[in-house]
Parts: sequence; C-alpha cells; structure tokens
Amino acid sequence: MTINQKHIEALRQIVGRTNVLASLEETRAYSYDGTAMWSHLPDVVVLPTQAAQVAAILGFAGENNIPVTPRGGGTNVSGGSIPIKGGIVLCTTRLDRILEINKTNLNATVEPGVVLQDFQAALAKEGLFFPPDPQSFAGCTMGGVVAENAGGPSCLKYGVTKQYVLGLEVALADGHIIKLGGLTPKNRTGYELMMLFTGSEGTLGIITKISLRLLPAPKAEKTIVAVFDDAAVAGETVTSIIAGSVLPSKVEFMDNWTFEKFRGVIPDNVLDTSQVILLIQVDGLPQTVAAEAEQVAAVCKQTAREVRVAADAAEAEKYWAARRAHFSDISSRAHTIVNEDVCVPRDKIAEFIRLGRASAKRHDVPVSFAGHVGDGNFHPAVLTDSRDKEHYQRALQCVEEIIEIALNLGGVLSGEHGIGLEKQRFLKKAMDPRAIELMKQIKNVLDPQHILNPGKIWEEE
Ligand SMILES: Cc1cc2nc3c(=O)[nH]c(=O)nc-3n(C[C@H](O)[C@H](O)[C@H](O)COP(=O)(O)OP(=O)(O)OC[C@H]3O[C@@H](n4cnc5c(N)ncnc54)[C@H](O)[C@@H]3O)c2cc1C
Repeated sequence: MTINQKHIEALRQIVGRTNVLASLEETRAYSYDGTAMWSHLPDVVVLPTQAAQVAAILGFAGENNIPVTPRGGGTNVSGGSIPIKGGIVLCTTRLDRILEINKTNLNATVEPGVVLQDFQAALAKEGLFFPPDPQSFAGCTMGGVVAENAGGPSCLKYGVTKQYVLGLEVALADGHIIKLGGLTPKNRTGYELMMLFTGSEGTLGIITKISLRLLPAPKAEKTIVAVFDDAAVAGETVTSIIAGSVLPSKVEFMDNWTFEKFRGVIPDNVLDTSQVILLIQVDGLPQTVAAEAEQVAAVCKQTAREVRVAADAAEAEKYWAARRAHFSDISSRAHTIVNEDVCVPRDKIAEFIRLGRASAKRHDVPVSFAGHVGDGNFHPAVLTDSRDKEHYQRALQCVEEIIEIALNLGGVLSGEHGIGLEKQRFLKKAMDPRAIELMKQIKNVLDPQHILNPGKIWEEE
C-alpha cells in the first residue's frame, strides 16, 4: 500500500502536525537501527503523545492496510525497528513520562518512550533499582526494553526484563487498548497474556504503559578485574566462579580487541600478550561485599595472570567505561560488523570459546568474542566489509558456524537481542517447527492483517 497525501493528512489529524514527519530528510533518520546490514525508508513517521493516539493510528492503519513498525530508541541490533515494508514508523519517544515511582510497593509505572538511563537516575534518587541494564541504556527506551525482553550485565544475579514486568497497557492491531497484569508481584489470573507481549518485538501490539517491579538498590559494590593469557581458561574460570558460593552481579568477558581502553589502568606489559579480561562485580551490603570480592579474586588468582580489586568507585568506573566502549570501538574497526548474540549453558562457555575461535581461524576472519559471559551470553562480532564479496561470504559462513556451535552445545539463538530480521534465517534450526507454527497462529489472532511490524521474526514463505 502506497501512502498518499490524504493518509498523511489523516495522521496529522490524529497526532497534530508537529508529530508527523514526512520529508525524506526526516524519515531517513528512522530507516535504520543499531544493525549494519539493514535499512529501509518509512513513508511517514508519527510520534504520538498519548496512548489513545497510538490506538487511533493502528485503527487507521488497519482500515487502510498500512504497515506500522513500532520504534523506541532504535538501538536494537536485530533489525527489529526497520520498516522493511515501508508504511508508518510509530515512534514512542514523545510518550516519555515516568507516571509513578512507589517506594512502599516497590514498583513504578512509565510510558514506553522513557529512556532507560533517565528511569535509572530517577530510581537512584529514591534508593531503588531496576536491574536490566542493556549497555545502550543512554538511548534505549522502556518500550524497547520490554519488547526485546532486554538483558545486560546485571542480569546474571537479577534476571532479565520479563522478571520485572508486572503490568502492561497495549494498543492492539484492531485499534483497541487492553490492560494486562497489574501492580502486585503475584498475579495468577488466567493465561499469562502479558508475557506474550514481553519480548514480542513489536509484532503483536504496541506497549503504551508499563508497570515494573523494583528492588532496593544494593548498598555497596566492588569490581574485580582479572587478566588471562588464554580465552578458554578465562571461560573455565567463569564456570568456577559461578559454581562457588558467591553469585556476582556481573561477569563480563572482553577479548584483546578492547585492551586499548584499559591502557593506563592496567600496565601495558600485562596487556600486551594477554587474551582476555574478565570484569566482575559483586554487590550487596558493605559488610559482605568486601569478603565476596576477595573470594572471587581468590578463584581468579588460580588461573589469571593479574587480578585486582578496584580500590574505589572511580577506579571501578574506568573499567566499566572501557567495557561500555567495546561495541562502538569494534564498530569503528571495520566497514561492516555482524554482531551476533548467542547464549550457551554456563558449563559450555570454555568449549564455545575454543570452537568459536577455531571457526574464526578456519574462515580467516577477525571475530571479537565479548559478552555477558556469566550468563553464557556472547556477542561475537565479526569484522568484515560487505563490499568485498569474498570476505563477506567467509564472514557470513563463520557467523553461521558460530551459531551452530552454540546450538549444538545446548545453547539458544538469541540471549537478549531478539530475532528481528537478523536471525530469522536461523529460526527453523533453533525451534521446533510446531512452536513456530503456534507463534504464527498467535500472530494471526492478534494481527490478522499483519500490519504490525510485518516481515519480522520468521521468514516469509
Ligand atoms: C551499543 C549497544 C549495546 C547494547 N547492549 C545490549 C545489552 O547489553 N543487552 C540487551 O538486551 N540489548 C542490548 N542492545 C540492544 C538494544 O539496545 C536493546 O534491545 C533495547 O532494549 C532496544 O530498545 P529501543 O528503545 O532502542 O528499541 P528499538 O530498537 O526502537 O526497538 C526494538 C524492538 O522493539 C519494538 N518496540 C519498540 N518500542 C515498542 C513498543 N512501545 N511497543 C511494542 N514494540 C516496541 C520495535 O518494533 C523493535 O522490534 C545494545 C545495543 C547497542 C547499540
């Protein structure tokens, strides 16, 4: 369906003139996301300011058979917010109010366009904590976090987004708004429909309000940094740490692509021939945190070349800033980055690293293996150049092999980034065909015309 001037006028009637973007310059900014491989122009971008407008846009889109691609911060790395069929991009960044933070009930209610970092800052003022912490927190929105069931380093100890969703308000493809769940931590009322929308990548409905469970913020934190000569030994050490009596809040893995960022804080002679840094955080009460940090450091000392416990928050922040810089750093090192996201059982971490690195060597392509390794969650980033067909082909073969390695080790296709466009060609390998069929049936019930984020998750037949 091609969008014409009449459609654009109708959308302006719904959300107001300033909330509709239709020029090429304006729409181009909504044609891509955090992936390097995908882009597609929308015909028009709408930025509603109220939930009722979201519902009205969907009603209008249904009547006119126009595709609608929901979008928050556009930071996803699976192609999920690319309007691959054109039509409307419905961007929620102007639905950005924190509606309530309730310290007594340990919950909060927000609109989907609230940026995660702003939410975290508001909670910190109250001594509260929403643990999922995708490393895109400065730009991603709460709607995107729920729609992707996002993770991040802290999920090792605290779990992922779905463990914090209490209630959702959702605008359905038929233009109606429904409320699911509530504000209580326990709720056993019928089927868990709310969970269908959590992680649904904008294909089943548009989330217009979110209620979340919170925790009291940890009172103290300690960071441990351990440098290893051998990547697989670092992997084995992670398994030993997790199998011990301390559960760290974060265990992050960075291979030597990131070491430039650590120069100045760790001596060059230690980094020069090393392979991997593990960055670990323990948190809790001040009385226990120091002892737990020592215990983790002791496990690392058995295998690492260098182990240190950060003396204070300022030193710890230097390490975490280096960790956060990893993705942008890697992205600047090649024309095309294929950034993957697989998850393996924790006792298979070392084997995954060994086999994955061997695959990179066999295909002769550079691969960085950073990730939230405490969860067995890796983001292998293959550095290539899509203009060099031969190299790009080898890179894609390596990606395919790495995914197969993870699946053969009992892992999963995506730990936290979702399927979107990026991973759909692998879905059949990773999921029971009947489960895929069931997902399609659910889609047909909730969005019979397939106007919501069409072309995502599974390949079209
Ligand atoms: C540098 C970097 C680091 C990252 N680190 C992590 C990480 O550690 N962990 C992690 O899990 N992810 C990570 N990500 C991926 C990404 O940031 C997360 O998936 C994030 O949750 C996306 O939020 P967003 O607002 O940008 O969503 P978008 O990218 O705008 O959208 C993501 C998906 O959600 C849908 N959507 C958005 N809003 C709504 C809504 N209101 N209702 C229904 N559907 C909606 C979209 O259609 C799309 O399918 C990282 C990305 C980058 C670029």
